[in-house]
Amino acid sequence: MRQPLSQVLAGLGALDVLVLGAGQAGLTAAVAAAQQGARVLVLEKLGHPGGSTAMSSGLTAYAGTDEQAAEGIEDSVESLRADILATGGNANDETLVDVYCREQLTTYRWLKDLGVEYGHIHAASGQSVPRSHATDPSRMIDTLARRAEELGVRIVYGVRGFQLMQDGDGSVVGVLVENGGSLVEVQAAAVVIATGGFSRNPDLLAKFVPQMAHAIHGGSPGSEGDGLLMAWKAGADFRDTPFVKGTFGIYPDDPRENGTGILAVYKGAIAVDFRGRRFVDESLPYKAIGDACLALPEHLAWQVFDQQTMDKDDPEVHIYWFSGRLATGLLQTAGTLEELADLIGVPADELRRTVDAYNAAVRGEREDEFGRTSLSGTGERPTELCRAPYYAHLSGASVLATYCGITVDPRTRVLDVYGEPIDGLFAAGEVTGGFHGAGYVTGTSVGKSGVFGRLAGLAAAAHAGVRA
Ligand SMILES: Cc1cc2nc3c(=O)[nH]c(=O)nc-3n(C[C@H](O)[C@H](O)[C@H](O)COP(=O)(O)OP(=O)(O)OC[C@H]3O[C@@H](n4cnc5c(N)ncnc54)[C@H](O)[C@@H]3O)c2cc1C
Repeated sequence: MRQPLSQVLAGLGALDVLVLGAGQAGLTAAVAAAQQGARVLVLEKLGHPGGSTAMSSGLTAYAGTDEQAAEGIEDSVESLRADILATGGNANDETLVDVYCREQLTTYRWLKDLGVEYGHIHAASGQSVPRSHATDPSRMIDTLARRAEELGVRIVYGVRGFQLMQDGDGSVVGVLVENGGSLVEVQAAAVVIATGGFSRNPDLLAKFVPQMAHAIHGGSPGSEGDGLLMAWKAGADFRDTPFVKGTFGIYPDDPRENGTGILAVYKGAIAVDFRGRRFVDESLPYKAIGDACLALPEHLAWQVFDQQTMDKDDPEVHIYWFSGRLATGLLQTAGTLEELADLIGVPADELRRTVDAYNAAVRGEREDEFGRTSLSGTGERPTELCRAPYYAHLSGASVLATYCGITVDPRTRVLDVYGEPIDGLFAAGEVTGGFHGAGYVTGTSVGKSGVFGRLAGLAAAAHAGVRA
């Protein structure tokens, strides 16, 4: 039963750890701290848990798992590390990358012990071997919230962290929260900020991420940058705003779009502009395709594919669930390429020329115009677009997540502008910067929330003096 904040506070006594946000980072922090024996309260500003995590495709990047072994995929921590740094243009904070690499398998096993399940492994952008582990993100959130409550964690919804409370030395001693129109002080020995990103805050995006002016804004409605601003006001540094990019594949301005889009390009589609011409190597990371799409005059493009790609339909992963898209009406289809071109308003002769040239390159008769040699960078070969019916999906680039944020150290302690920890303050998940560097490997954002969320919970419990 859901209790109001006042009743929960009255029953809790002195709090060890206060967590802001009930996405994956917040819930893993809460579970980890409670397993140590800490008294934990989670405050979530929306009426339900999940944040962007629950909306995500649920792909998590791990290396060396049972699921990879079962599918005959050989992977290593060294390869994972090299991919994260290469995709991040070596602008990453290597100490955070090292923590991720060191802790990812432990976190994976810990999450599985808690009841999180992983399905098939998918290849995706920035991965030299397939290592995106599919999970149902809503089920994962429900599992974590249930486990947290079983461990005695109290979760109160509809309460928004507003301002950090600091003592005379600057140590964080609690949070001033907004609850039903009034401000309430909640004291705690340690605070974990796990409030996600700011993809839904147009003002912050305009100020700090002007490069995404023509992008669509996605992510959870809770992603308004609250935690970032709270930490900043308390003296925290933040980093990596120039690296925020949009994800390609989202249908623009339509209520039927669930926010995930589709990435048919990684299963065989080409991307064409409104003149019917390709404009990018479609095997590039979807953020790079997003940049190329935003550079088009209309900032939009079409993913065009044939039945062979449709046959790779996978309801387990939103971005590959093409039949689901068709059912929503967001995917156009026609018996011939020319009919498809007419349907979507692209010159039919130009689209035909584009597809003929692409098919010739796939057959090895000529160089591909944009150097495409694989489907998603992992070596799987492109196929010709030749089997009717044909499909087209209007696609823009959407800021689904902001990969920049609060500066933290490897122990998840929030650092001030001098690189010194702010006593009592921890942060994990999308609200933090440093880890991704200049580019994002698929699965490392959900991955980062789990890995660093768990560590933040352990660190906050230890700070509060709790020992298992
Ligand atoms: C459509 C989509 C697909 C994606 N797919 C993938 C994927 O497959 N793999 C991957 O790695 N990444 C993916 N991402 C990104 C990834 O899901 C997120 O970066 C990650 O899950 C963020 O987790 P989090 O716990 O840090 O934040 P969230 O899950 O966003 O949780 C933050 C929570 O904090 C709450 N909150 C905010 N402000 C306050 C406040 N002031 N007080 C209290 N609570 C507050 C929010 O309401 C929210 O519930 C995707 C994102 C989207 C939108």
